[in-house]
Amino acid sequence: HASQAATSNTPLTREAMEAFWLPMTPNRQFKSRPRLFVGAEGMHYVAQDGQRILDGMAGLWCVNAGHGQRRIVEAIQTQAAKLDFVSSFQMSHPAAFELAGRIAEIAPSGLDHVFFTNSGSESVDTALKIARGYHRTRGEASRIRFISRAKAYHGMGWGGLSVSGIVRHRRDFGPLLPEVDHLSHTHNLEHAAFSRGQPGWGAHLADELEKLLSIHDPSTVAAVIVEPVTGSGGVFPPPVGYLERLREICDRHGILLIFDEVITGFGRVGAAFAANAFGVTPDIITCAKGMTNAAVPMGGVIVSGKVYDALMTGPENTIELFHGYTYSAHPLACAAALAALDVYQDLGLFERARRIAPRWEAAAHALRGAPHIIDIRNIGLLAAIDLKPRDGAAGARGAECAGRCYDDGILIRASGDTLLLSPPLIIEEEQIEALFAAVRRALAAVG
Ligand code: PLP
Repeated sequence: HASQAATSNTPLTREAMEAFWLPMTPNRQFKSRPRLFVGAEGMHYVAQDGQRILDGMAGLWCVNAGHGQRRIVEAIQTQAAKLDFVSSFQMSHPAAFELAGRIAEIAPSGLDHVFFTNSGSESVDTALKIARGYHRTRGEASRIRFISRAKAYHGMGWGGLSVSGIVRHRRDFGPLLPEVDHLSHTHNLEHAAFSRGQPGWGAHLADELEKLLSIHDPSTVAAVIVEPVTGSGGVFPPPVGYLERLREICDRHGILLIFDEVITGFGRVGAAFAANAFGVTPDIITCAKGMTNAAVPMGGVIVSGKVYDALMTGPENTIELFHGYTYSAHPLACAAALAALDVYQDLGLFERARRIAPRWEAAAHALRGAPHIIDIRNIGLLAAIDLKPRDGAAGARGAECAGRCYDDGILIRASGDTLLLSPPLIIEEEQIEALFAAVRRALAAVG
């Protein structure tokens, strides 16, 4: 009877919900108070009870062009009927090459090769492996260490978890890769609370990299990996000049710089990638999410010619990188991604995000002074609102606030006591106002 329920609007019984172990979810609580969606179009989800929910999260930071884009739907349908699957191990299909070319075109110049994966986590693990492989093949096998940053989220693979800066994600699963160290995060309430866009304070924190290198010895370090804008850790835009300094220090010591752009890629900060927006070019970009507008899972690792060429050595008949996934460059994902890029281009969505970002910023910061708020941050179409934790109940206020917004028809996310917002880039100005108005009402109502 579970399958019957799935195709109707009849609420699921507790029994019918038993088998599905939901990811990153309090399962028992969820199953006693499920939140199920049965449709989506444009800026809205349709909940099982028929309620329309304004999507203030673009799904999970990924549906950048809004839900149900016809062109993407049709591209997937056509591709499924034509060529459902072909592996890319020693064979492939034309769309994979076209897509790699299109991504290289919009990526910062010099980043011109794409390795396909199926998620952000796989992209991060792939990038870390490429970084070690790159150094080893050049005769610098001592370069094995990775430097990341506190509060970083790099997905759920062993590599990504090892460079993660979120203790709760790491705590239960060690030992992780030992050859990792972390920079401080850049958030500072004393010097940079309520900053709009990039904070003016904090570039000097990049110099910590030199300190870590003096402890570990640069010749042991393979790569520095950062999200150019920390995303799910709480939306921390980089301080002015910070990424530039990381780039300089990496260059000085022969260390690769990896930008994890799983959230910031494909328009979120008003350019194809944050690297384009900030004018700092890493050696490797990891991406996923918005790549297909989230219609089919897909990720990618975009690498510079320097990295690619270094690995394209040895006899021509040998595999240069012993790495890949059954579904790398899956035909449905490639079709969806090509259509998504067309939609982004035709609707001018990256520019649109840049154009409406000031409106977004103004609406977010207009909440300053509302109850419980201790900080507000924004960049592109990203925002975070920090609430003062309730005494002895960290996270409760954030969860209640997001819950009230949902009951009010607005989907946002709470991570602890931080409210996170990241809408589709098609959001209209009235919808921006509606989102923040719901947050304001929720704040007024929670104790
Ligand atoms: N890296 C970053 C910066 C992310 O934000 C995420 C997901 O939110 C990931 C990696 C992991 O991506 P996925 O959930 O597709 O594996």
